[in-house]
Amino acid sequence: MAAAALSSPHLTLDVPSNHDTPNSAGMLHYYDEPVHLSLAGDNYDDGPTRGLGTDDGPGLVTPVDNTRLTLSGDDGKCGSDGHSGTCLGLMHQCTPSPNILCLDMDETLGSFGPFCIAAKIWRHFEGSFPPPQIAVATHLSQGAFRPGMKELLNTAASLKQSGHLDEIVIFTSASNEGGYVDYVRQCVELFSNLPPGTVSRIISKEHSTMPAPDGATMKDLGILVDNKSYPGSQPGDARNCIIVDDKPHNICQGTNVCLSVRPYDQWVSPMELLEHLPGWDRRASQECIEHAGGKLPDIQVPDSIADTKTGLSLAAVVHDAKQYAPKPWSDTLAADTDLFHTASRIISRFAPQ
Ligand SMILES: [Mg+2]
Repeated sequence: MAAAALSSPHLTLDVPSNHDTPNSAGMLHYYDEPVHLSLAGDNYDDGPTRGLGTDDGPGLVTPVDNTRLTLSGDDGKCGSDGHSGTCLGLMHQCTPSPNILCLDMDETLGSFGPFCIAAKIWRHFEGSFPPPQIAVATHLSQGAFRPGMKELLNTAASLKQSGHLDEIVIFTSASNEGGYVDYVRQCVELFSNLPPGTVSRIISKEHSTMPAPDGATMKDLGILVDNKSYPGSQPGDARNCIIVDDKPHNICQGTNVCLSVRPYDQWVSPMELLEHLPGWDRRASQECIEHAGGKLPDIQVPDSIADTKTGLSLAAVVHDAKQYAPKPWSDTLAADTDLFHTASRIISRFAPQ
């Protein structure tokens, strides 16, 4: 807890947010650079909380219109080990190839820009990310998670349980600094009523060495299959790996192994989540928001609360909102069906009739 340090004007709190989210202008932006808040000490702990979730059955998948989705065939090629498709094809005849479903995070499973800021503000003050139940109830279930995410995860979990799928992986260009992606996974599993570990692995920016032309990272599905994870398989053999992603052009194995979805960028205010931060001055924050006409970028934090937890947090939110302008609620995005379509497609891919 940084209460003591808050009195010091010489220390700086870094609240880096990190993902590959396009901003409102459609350009990539980076939260990798710390947002320096004019506040006090930075003594937060990077350790995420873990271990939540319940066991439940699979969900339903609605019928689909497949016209926009570019599934995903398997052409037997994999560039990760430098061999041609034909050469690999011969090697693969003798070795099993794991069925792996990869899920991109940002703009695929949800829109996490404001969430990332709120979660890291929370971690700064509390030493851990918000309790997942609170994060899900006050923010993620309010539109940050994409419609159909729960259904997609439950479909994948059912395929895994039935042996049609070996693994579900989050494969993201975002950084897992401080366990942020682990934390999002925890929330994903909780919201989906799936036990922890259903998503069994995370591949994040830290695993990638290839920058993509658009500033994200290139994703090589071949790194999923190594001697440690699949000792019986040929390392780099991604024949049966599929990824759900809004950036199919960044997949090393080509767009044909990608179930592409449109970028999902519903904007959800971080304020309701932050109002649950212990010690939050709700009255002061609501006054600030009212004076700004409800517009986060226009909030002026008064000197009277500038050095408080609420004031410092508001300043961070304003800083972020000025960089990445809040968008009005989109009914179109709220009715998005891409992940429902995707759930049906992974059934076709991994458990064909
Ligand atoms: Mg993405």
